[in-house]
Amino acid sequence: MAEHRFEDFNGLVIFRRNYKEKDMLVKILTDRFGKKMFYLRGANSPRFRMAAAILPFTKAEYGGDIRDDGLSFLNNVKSASQFQAISNDLFLNAYATYILNLIDVAFPDSQPLGFWYGRIEQALTLIDEGFDAAMITHIIEIQLLQVFGVQPHLESCVVCGRTDLAFDYSESYGGLLCQRHWHLDPNRLHANSRAIYYLRLFSVIDLFKIQSVTVKPETEAALKAIVDQIYQNSVGLVLKSKQFIDKMFTFDSAMPKLKKVAPEIDRSSKDD
Ligand SMILES: [Zn+2]
Repeated sequence: MAEHRFEDFNGLVIFRRNYKEKDMLVKILTDRFGKKMFYLRGANSPRFRMAAAILPFTKAEYGGDIRDDGLSFLNNVKSASQFQAISNDLFLNAYATYILNLIDVAFPDSQPLGFWYGRIEQALTLIDEGFDAAMITHIIEIQLLQVFGVQPHLESCVVCGRTDLAFDYSESYGGLLCQRHWHLDPNRLHANSRAIYYLRLFSVIDLFKIQSVTVKPETEAALKAIVDQIYQNSVGLVLKSKQFIDKMFTFDSAMPKLKKVAPEIDRSSKDD
């Protein structure tokens, strides 16, 4: 394999940091080469010609020198656009940052991401368009579980395969238990059944077919508790950006308000 090559590719800025006096390191999620760290000489000076293409929450068509190992380089930008709503809203910003963090942790650098590139771009697009950011984030979290090596069995009861009884989630069984088998795990999550419904739905839902998502605040809290627990215990991941969301969530829950999101999820994506 060539040591380096000039390539055109699509990318999403994951993060950037200053380097030396006027330079920057910018990590970009690319559609073809996985995550790559780019070294941008002079990027921190006010007249840098590619400034708009390396802002946080930007997607662009780049041209650059992709190195198999070490830092890569950007040569030009064909088109760049920033997710405006995400950039301007602290809450949306927090969710998008967490999603990008998750994908950064889930895959090693330089490993092509397959369909995950499109999925992450679509998640950010939906959040930018006003879809409930917490729900879009849960969909990504739940679908990423298998990348983290956790493959919860959510199709049916782990023990008997039934799908017609109430379900609960069992960490020790790695999936759902139907009501008849709840006795097998006294430590099952005792989760709210609507939350379990969304856990199952979100594991298979197609982000490209979603029309809207509405979840009642109490169901949202219950779903968050399940996902948080699986991430803590089975994935073992604690990200700073997630802790920030947790603080926001606590604050948000303390403020009575009406959620202004429209009902129903695309029926074609329903799982039963
Ligand atoms: Zn069962």
